[in-house]
Amino acid sequence: MKRKKSENSNPLHNEYDLIIIGAGPAGLIAAIESNVNNVRIIVIEQKFKPAMKLRITGKGNCNITNDAGVEEFIENFGRNGKFLRQSFNKFFNEDLISYFNELGVDFELERGGRYYPKSGKAETIVNSLLQRLDDLNIEIVTNFKAENIIVRKSGEFEIRLSDKERPDGDLQSSLTLKTERILLATGGRSYPGTGSDGSGFVLAEGLGHTIVPIIPALVPLKGKGNIPEELNGLSIRNCRVKVFSGDKKVDDQFGEMEFRDNEIAGPVILSMSKDIVKKIKKDERIFLSIDLKPSLDYKKLDNRILREIKDKKNKNCADILKTLLPGKAINLFLTLTGIDGSKNPGQLTSEERRNLNNLLKGLRIPIKGSASISKALVTSGGVSLGEIDQVTMGSKIIKGLYFAGEIMDIDGETGGFNLQAAFSTGWVAGRSLKDSIKKQGE
Ligand SMILES: Cc1cc2nc3c(=O)[nH]c(=O)nc-3n(C[C@H](O)[C@H](O)[C@H](O)COP(=O)(O)OP(=O)(O)OC[C@H]3O[C@@H](n4cnc5c(N)ncnc54)[C@H](O)[C@@H]3O)c2cc1C
Repeated sequence: MKRKKSENSNPLHNEYDLIIIGAGPAGLIAAIESNVNNVRIIVIEQKFKPAMKLRITGKGNCNITNDAGVEEFIENFGRNGKFLRQSFNKFFNEDLISYFNELGVDFELERGGRYYPKSGKAETIVNSLLQRLDDLNIEIVTNFKAENIIVRKSGEFEIRLSDKERPDGDLQSSLTLKTERILLATGGRSYPGTGSDGSGFVLAEGLGHTIVPIIPALVPLKGKGNIPEELNGLSIRNCRVKVFSGDKKVDDQFGEMEFRDNEIAGPVILSMSKDIVKKIKKDERIFLSIDLKPSLDYKKLDNRILREIKDKKNKNCADILKTLLPGKAINLFLTLTGIDGSKNPGQLTSEERRNLNNLLKGLRIPIKGSASISKALVTSGGVSLGEIDQVTMGSKIIKGLYFAGEIMDIDGETGGFNLQAAFSTGWVAGRSLKDSIKKQGE
C-alpha cells in the first residue's frame, strides 16, 4: 500500500478516533475489526511496507496457526498462557481459518497440525489483509515512527511521530497527532530489521506500564568448545536432547536439531532455548547431552556396533562410523573417542567401543549463551499481563490505551501459536475499540 503523501504536506490529519501503532498481524486485524462507518482510524508503521515480519514467517510460507485445542495452545505459552484463554474463546484457530477463507485465502494442514496458505506464500496473507483495509478505506501510513506518547489532563493522547523519510534535524521531520484511543501493536524486539525494534516497550513504559525484562526465546544457542563449529551444516532428524544444569537434568526433548552459523539450532533446541537463557543468566552451568541413537539402548547399540565390526572386518574403523553417523560427524567422533580411523575394526578395544557407545548416546556440549535477540523468533517478556484486561486488551492503568500481539509478555512455541496469539488478541482489541468508539457516538 502506498503512503499517501504530497511534496510539501504530510498525509495526516491532526485528530483521529483511533490510532494503531504497528502494522503487523495484530495491528492489521485490529484495524479491520475496529472499523465503524465515518470514524477516523489510522495505522502508523515505521517500515516502508506493512507487516515485514509476517512476510518472512514460516520461511516465507507462514505457519499461520495450529489445529491443537485451546488447552494445548495455552500450554504452549507456558506460565502466561492462561491470559490468552479469553481471546482464544472469542477468536480461535477455526475462526482465523474461516476469516482468511472469506478474504479468499485457502489453507493446507501439514505435519504437526500446522496450517499454511495453499499458495505457499506469506505474502498471500499480507495482501489479503491489506486489500481488506483498502476496501474499508482505512489508511496505513508507512515510514512514520511513533517516538513519544503523552496523556493530556483531558485524557487525550498526543503522539509524536518522526518521518523516517526525512533527514534528522529537518523541521518537518516530526509531527503530533491527537486521539482518544491508541492500540500499541508494535511487536517484540527480535528481527529488528522488520521494524519490531523494541520501541513499543519504551512507549508503554513511558505511559506507566511495567515491562517484564526482555530475553530472546526460540533462539539458537552458542556452545563452548569446537563441536558446533566441527558439526556446522549438520541436521539431525531424530535425536533426544537432555539439558543439564550442573549434574541435574532439567529438560529432555525428542526431535530435530541442526548446527548452523556455528550455533546450535533446530526445533528441539529453539523450544528449550528460553529456559536455558534464563538459567545461564542465573550463572547456572548448562550443557546439552545429545543422544544420536535414541531408539537403541546401550546394550542394543553395542550389539549393533559388534555386528558392524563383524560385517566390515576387511574395512577400517572410519567405515564402521559411517554406518552409525552422518559423514560430517565422523572426524569429530574419531577425535573424541581417540579411535584411529584407519585401523582394522578387529583392533577396536572394548574401551574404545564403550567410548563410542557413550558418545553416540550422550554427545556433551557445554552452553555459553544464546545468539542475540535479533536472531530470536520471538521475544519473551514485554508489557506485564497483570496490567492488561484480558477480556478487552485494554490497559488497567490508562483509559483508552490497548495492547495486542507480541508487545505483551507472551511467547509461544513454534507451530503457528505465536501468530494465532497475535491475531486473536488483535481481533479482541479491535472489537473492544469498536465498542468504545460506538459508545462515544451514542
Ligand atoms: C523469522 C521468523 C519467523 C516466524 N515464523 C512464524 C510462524 O511461521 N508462525 C508463527 O506463529 N509465528 C512466527 N513467528 C513469530 C511471529 O511472526 C510474531 O509473533 C508476530 O509477527 C507478532 O505479531 P505482532 O503484530 O505482535 O508484531 P510484528 O509482527 O512484530 O509487528 C509489529 C509492527 O509494529 C511496527 N512498529 C514497531 N515499533 C513501531 C513504532 N515505534 N512506530 C511505528 N511502527 C512500529 C513494526 O515495524 C512492525 O511492523 C516468526 C518470527 C520470525 C522472526
